[in-house]
Amino acid sequence: ATPMSVMVGVGRAAGAGVLVKDAQAMERLEKVDTVVVDKTGTLTQGRPELTDIHAVEGADPTRVLRLAAALERSSEHPLAHAVVTAADSQPDARTAGGPVVSDFAAPAGRGVSGVVDGHRVLVGSAAHLREHDVDPSPLEGDADRVRAGAATGVLVAVDGAPAAVLAIADPIRQTTAEALAALRADGLEVVMLTGDAHATAAAVAGQVGIDRFEAEVTPERKHEVVAELRARGRVVAMVGDGVNDAPALAAADVGVAMGTGTDVALESAGVTLLQADLTALVRARRLSRATMRNIR
Ligand code: ADP
Ligand code: MG
Repeated sequence: ATPMSVMVGVGRAAGAGVLVKDAQAMERLEKVDTVVVDKTGTLTQGRPELTDIHAVEGADPTRVLRLAAALERSSEHPLAHAVVTAADSQPDARTAGGPVVSDFAAPAGRGVSGVVDGHRVLVGSAAHLREHDVDPSPLEGDADRVRAGAATGVLVAVDGAPAAVLAIADPIRQTTAEALAALRADGLEVVMLTGDAHATAAAVAGQVGIDRFEAEVTPERKHEVVAELRARGRVVAMVGDGVNDAPALAAADVGVAMGTGTDVALESAGVTLLQADLTALVRARRLSRATMRNIR
């Protein structure tokens, strides 16, 4: 049975913008000493926008954008949405009802591939290009410059040749730095995990004061990191928003979903931050402490 004061705590948390599904999460929150956070959509707004196209010499940026968007139309990834939105805003790149796409594939955590109007197109990470025997190195200088600015560099290849880097920016949420500082002040360790490239992860981590992070991780690896920390005696809260965070959310002592997240993330978590504001987690933790003190 759940003590009355825990129910009161759950009610107070709701008033503070934190939905606690599982009363045990309310009790465990107090003991959390490690907070694992996803980057995209958790520390950042999760509404990425295309800001620039760095095409190789001889490649037409508008054509590259159109070809990339033709494929991304079939993807639900937030990066895909940024590419399609940018293409649709340019008459010469618009794809609706246009190009014929065949052979579409979307390997998770890599990107998309397919044939657009007879051209083989790859959009995604450097590893994605390599897996299709395209050498990404001519694009890596531009990609690194994009990443140093905390944006994501998405690579595009056309007919087996590197064509362009799409710079896609996803601003850090206004409340992120303040919330992380409060968690650290309470003595918690913060670890960031992201599927994005190392250089982008390093830039974001630097801006919000995180010194422990891992980049280019798969959903399985996120789960593994949480499990490893727990095996070493850490009490772990995992905060995420995406399908790729769901296994880690379920494996944590307390799974925390951003209210703006995907359904799978919300279902895997015991706690939801309704306003997608990390400072609500700080409040919830303090409420948990007050609640448990009432019981003892
Ligand atoms: P995250 O959302 O945490 O960055 P993902 O695992 O979803 O992680 O993706 C990892 C990387 O794979 C992305 O940063 C991007 O480089 C690439 N990627 C995945 N899906 C797409 C896509 N639809 N279009 C372009 N790039 C993609
Ligand atoms: Mg995310």
